[in-house]
Amino acid sequence: MVSQPHPNGAERRCSECNCVLARDNRDTMCWPCRRQRALAAQEASALMLRRREAFEHGRIPALAEMMGVDTAEAIRYAVESGILPRRWRSQIDCLIRLSEMPEASHVHAAQALGVSRWTVADWRRQLGLQSGQRRAAARPG
Ligand SMILES: [Zn+2]
Repeated sequence: MVSQPHPNGAERRCSECNCVLARDNRDTMCWPCRRQRALAAQEASALMLRRREAFEHGRIPALAEMMGVDTAEAIRYAVESGILPRRWRSQIDCLIRLSEMPEASHVHAAQALGVSRWTVADWRRQLGLQSGQRRAAARPG
């Protein structure tokens, strides 16, 4: 015989804190845990929104500054979180290497990375990483 929980004796417990759930609670967690979970989700989405806004405003440099991380970490986050195309995941190492050669021309960077210079130009545009020449030209004075 398969033993079944006694209908009256079975205690249902919160999946988060393991406290005993009230009999009329049909949820899998207690009310304080459910509320905590909802708040955490709200905070996470608000943070995500601010990071997206930072990226839209100033691309990777702005995102890195807002997150207080280096460029490589910001690139990783942007790809993993879907701010940048997720299909770039397999090229994260390339993107990071590109970010580490700001002085290289598109052609030189393309040779170093084994991609076309149009790919380099596209990556730099989408990441907000300008090449040395363009950055120097944009610098006032
Ligand atoms: Zn709980």
